[in-house]
Amino acid sequence: MVRVKSRCWKCGEVALSLEDILLVEHGDGEGTYYSFICSTCDMAQAYPADSRFIDFMRMNGCEPIILVPPIDCKEAGEDPPLTWDDLLDLHLQLQEEA
Ligand SMILES: [Zn+2]
Repeated sequence: MVRVKSRCWKCGEVALSLEDILLVEHGDGEGTYYSFICSTCDMAQAYPADSRFIDFMRMNGCEPIILVPPIDCKEAGEDPPLTWDDLLDLHLQLQEEA
């Protein structure tokens, strides 16, 4: 199994498997982030993903999820910011589907 090292802001260095990582590309061009839930403290984490990391994930079959705000929401000018809870929900949903 491929292991990836990252950091939890609370626990320090953590080892993750690729299945633990969710790669999220912001459709409005704000960049790509990876998120995971720390196995030690269960806190959701998210960090900017650089292009090398994205390539690495793609090589291992993990395509980024593209987040696009709904059009009517954009026209109304009220894009709700993505919160930790949103990411956590997404993560859990994906794990259930997998
Ligand atoms: Zn932690």
